[in-house]
Amino acid sequence: MEKVILLRFGEIYLKGKNRFSFEKQLLDNIELALRGLKHRLARMHGRYLIENLDPNDVTEAELRIKKVFGLISYSEALKMPTDLEAMKRECLAYLPESGTFRFTVNRADKKFPLNSQQIAMELGGAALAYNPALKVDLFSPDKEVFVDVREEGYSFVFADKVPCAGGMPVGCSGKGVVLLSGGIDSPVAAYRMAKRGLKMYGVHFHSFPYTSPMAKQKVVDLAKILSEYQGGFLLYVVSFTEIQQQIHEHCPEEYMITIMRRIMMRIAERIAIKEGCGSITTGESLAQVASQTQESIRVTNETVMELPVFRPLIGMDKEEIIATAREIGTFDKSIEPYEDCCTVFLPKYPVIKPKPELIRAAESKIDYEALIDAAMGSTEVIKL
Ligand code: ATP
Ligand code: MG
Repeated sequence: MEKVILLRFGEIYLKGKNRFSFEKQLLDNIELALRGLKHRLARMHGRYLIENLDPNDVTEAELRIKKVFGLISYSEALKMPTDLEAMKRECLAYLPESGTFRFTVNRADKKFPLNSQQIAMELGGAALAYNPALKVDLFSPDKEVFVDVREEGYSFVFADKVPCAGGMPVGCSGKGVVLLSGGIDSPVAAYRMAKRGLKMYGVHFHSFPYTSPMAKQKVVDLAKILSEYQGGFLLYVVSFTEIQQQIHEHCPEEYMITIMRRIMMRIAERIAIKEGCGSITTGESLAQVASQTQESIRVTNETVMELPVFRPLIGMDKEEIIATAREIGTFDKSIEPYEDCCTVFLPKYPVIKPKPELIRAAESKIDYEALIDAAMGSTEVIKL
C-alpha cells in the first residue's frame, strides 16, 4: 500500500493539435517542480500519477504541485491491491465521523467479479456496519469517496480534490519580459502572465546608492517567490542611477517619471529581444497614479517599437490586486518599506496628461541612446 498523488489537467487542452506540446511541457514542468524529491511520474488515463514518493515528502510534493500551471486539481490517493476486504477496511479512513457519504466506483478491470455498483454497495454496507452514525446520500453527500479499480491488479482510493493553479503550462506561450519593481503590482502581473503559459524574465531598475542594497534584495526575494511558479527565474538588474541623474538635471521636473518610464521600456525591449522574449509586461493599472493615465500610457507605449506590451492588471482595483498578491505569497515581501528607484528625485506634481511633443523636446536634452547602451553594458543577471 502506498500514498500516491493523482494529478488532473484541463480537458480542454486535450483537443486539437497543441495537445502533444501541451502535455510535454506540463510533464517537464511537473518534473522540474519535483526536482530533488525521489519520485516516479506516470501518465494514467487522462491523468498523471506521482508514485514512489518518500512518505515524508508527500506534503512538500503537494505544495509544489499546487504551483504548476496547467494542473486543475490533485488528490492524495491510496494505491492498494484490488482486494475487496482490504478495501472495505481502508475506505473507512476516508469517511467522516457522521453525516452522509457515497462511494463512487470506476471499474476499469472488467475481470473483477463485481461491477462498479456492486463494489460501491459492498463498501457502503461495510461502512454503515462499522459506523451507524453515517448515512448514504447519492445526490449531495457530505463526503464522496472515489474508488478506481485498475486493470493491473491494484486500485486507488481517494476523496478530496484539492484545487491547483489552473492556467496553461509555463512555456506553452513562449517567453516574456516583466518590468519587476519591488511593489505589489508587478509581481502579480508576472504571475498572471506566467499563468497564461509565458515563461517570465524580470527586468529591475535600481538606483544605487540612492536606493539601498536591501531594496534590490527585496526584488530578488520576490523573483525567488515567482520562480516557484515557473521552475526558475532570470532577473536582469539594471543600474538606473546615471539615467535618473541626467533626467533630473536636464528635463522638466514634472516630466521626470514619464521620461523614466519611456527609458525603462526601451531597455526592457532590448533585453526582451536579446533573450528571445516576445512581449513586455508591466504592473500598470488604469488611473492608479499619474503615470497610469491613458495619456501617460500612450507616451510610454510609443517607445516600444516591436513587441506587444501586456498590462494584465489594467482593469483591476488595488484591492483585487492585493488579494492575488496574498494568494500567491508576494504581498508580505512587497510591503517591506524599502524605497524604489521611482521615488528618488520624485517630482511633487508629476504630469498627468503628458504632451508627446513636450516629452520629445525634454528627452532631446539628454543622450538617452548612449545612456541606454551604458546601462545595458552594466546589467547584472541573477539566476533564481
Ligand atoms: P508596483 O506595485 O508594481 O511597483 P506601482 O503601483 O508602484 O506598481 P508604478 O511605480 O507607477 O506603479 O510602476 C508601474 C509599473 O512600472 C510597475 O508595475 C512595474 O511594472 C514598472 N516599474 C516601476 N518601477 C520599476 C523598477 N524600479 N524596475 C522595474 N520596473 C518598474
Ligand atoms: Mg512601483
